[in-house]
Amino acid sequence: MNLYFHRVRIKMPEPYKRSRSLRRVKKVTPGARNITHYEKRKPQIAHCGGCGRPLSGVPRERPSDLKRIPKTQRRPQRPYGGVLCTICTRQKMVKMARNIELE
Ligand SMILES: [Zn+2]
Repeated sequence: MNLYFHRVRIKMPEPYKRSRSLRRVKKVTPGARNITHYEKRKPQIAHCGGCGRPLSGVPRERPSDLKRIPKTQRRPQRPYGGVLCTICTRQKMVKMARNIELE
């Protein structure tokens, strides 16, 4: 028997190679078969830069998938859209207007 046999270790697959690190999407084929597709997980929801609340109107997709959708659907069409929430935007606008008046 080989003396070094007990030292041989079977390595665990790296995290990105494991099937459980991918999300499972159930699909039905045209032939009515139920199959599972393994897709990469989506990133976290976009949050407001001021208060940290989740932003609405910002899709939760990978950057490569975001490139495929129109720019107008990637964030709200207003100043600071996709960066600040409505409450923080309003507060910032008021603050800026008051600073202009003071000068
Ligand atoms: Zn906010």
